[in-house]
Amino acid sequence: MTSTVESVYEEVLRRNPGEAEFHQAVKEVLHSLREVEKRHPEYADARILSRIVEPERQIMFRVPWVDDKGQVQVNRGFRVEFNSALGPYKGGLRFHPTVYLGIIKFLGFEQIFKNSLTGLAMGGGKGGSDFDPHGKSDAEVMRFCQSFMTELYRHIGENTDVPAGDIGVGGREIGYMFGQYKRITNRFDAGVLTGKGLDWGGSLARTEATGYGCTVFANEMLGTKGESFDGRRVVISGAGNVAIYAAQKVEQLGGKVVTVSDSSGYVVDENGIDVALLQQVKEVERARLSEYAARRDGVKYVQGGSVWDVNCDVALPCATQNELDEAAAKTLAKNGVKVVAEGANMPCTEGAVKVFREAGVLFGPGKAANAGGVATSGLEMQQNASRDSWTFERTEEELTSIMKNIHDTCLATAEEYGTPGDYVAGANIAGFKKVADTMLAYGVV
Ligand code: NDP
Repeated sequence: MTSTVESVYEEVLRRNPGEAEFHQAVKEVLHSLREVEKRHPEYADARILSRIVEPERQIMFRVPWVDDKGQVQVNRGFRVEFNSALGPYKGGLRFHPTVYLGIIKFLGFEQIFKNSLTGLAMGGGKGGSDFDPHGKSDAEVMRFCQSFMTELYRHIGENTDVPAGDIGVGGREIGYMFGQYKRITNRFDAGVLTGKGLDWGGSLARTEATGYGCTVFANEMLGTKGESFDGRRVVISGAGNVAIYAAQKVEQLGGKVVTVSDSSGYVVDENGIDVALLQQVKEVERARLSEYAARRDGVKYVQGGSVWDVNCDVALPCATQNELDEAAAKTLAKNGVKVVAEGANMPCTEGAVKVFREAGVLFGPGKAANAGGVATSGLEMQQNASRDSWTFERTEEELTSIMKNIHDTCLATAEEYGTPGDYVAGANIAGFKKVADTMLAYGVV
């Protein structure tokens, strides 16, 4: 007789063919739950695992729009409403050509446990489209966002489902979508989207939150070894929202970030990344990262190659899933990395995580280390509900306290379940238990 964990995984493979990223995310979580399964037979009786791997609702839709040449374009839109045990579905929208159902399901599944870890009342969901914003004009992005929201609006609401940004979706896209939502519904429902601009219901520190939170989490990890970021050499991948603000916080904590990257290559800046210049190039001009290197003396842009070849004390992968594989993990370990914390979702492959574990490198999984973004989205929802807006300091203080709490919860839970120091097990078990107990309380729904 196979255990429930194994039979549920087999069922997931059978019922969701071709969705490799979703399989990977489910496998990692289920693997951590063996001890939970032994200690809590009530979960098996209520078939909690079989229910938690099945989205409550999956929405797929056509997104037609007209480009600047007058040509009709057709993209596909997704929203996977995975689990609403703890609150309204909550999770970002990703616009990237690689998006398909398997990516959205992996992200939505991770989001359930991440949101649970924040301690805020948020269920898990995720959405997006295979639309590629790179190289599109503002007008094209606007027409796409309007068409996307013309379908999505009927599925969302401040007590139902609250989307936010992710790869390819920042303040500009949220603005176009919120504008269209407001127009169609004739309602200023500020709490229907997060990541809004500061003049129309956004929260201070939301833009910084994921990167800042990841750095705070990594600092807590360093703290368990009696160390901190002070004087540490840090490698960061990505050059988007998460990477930029992770770099800014590392700098504030006294560390030196020597790299950032994009999908074409990476820069090495031995004097420390100039975050203000990076913001100018990426956020203001929306230019390629090579432009950063072109404007800074002695900095080279390495076309292709692996950012993980650069030696460091701390690595923060902040670009995308499966960007750091087993070979890269071996190189990092050989070069003496002490801490790896995931700013992106699932950037490290299963093989990479195994290498870190065996080499004694502390590893912080994304669902814990990058939870600061959604936590601050939760704080944005609180401010919207009370028609209030908090100072940057207050919001950052709350964010920092949430991240420290998640860190301590992961360690305490890992210890309780017999895997001391294993942040992956701690995050999965702590995130899962709260959702599972709530699902038990609701009965079979
Ligand atoms: P952005 O779109 O702002 O930036 C993404 C960065 O990653 C860009 O530099 C991009 O380079 C690079 N990138 C994207 N796809 C690839 C790829 N296939 N190969 C190599 N590089 C790639 O996204 P975010 O910074 O918001 O998100 C980054 C990660 O963090 C994602 O995994 C996201 O799910 C996760 N995350 C984000 C949160 C948020 O609040 N924004 C919250 C929690 C997690 P290029 O421009 O060349 O495409």
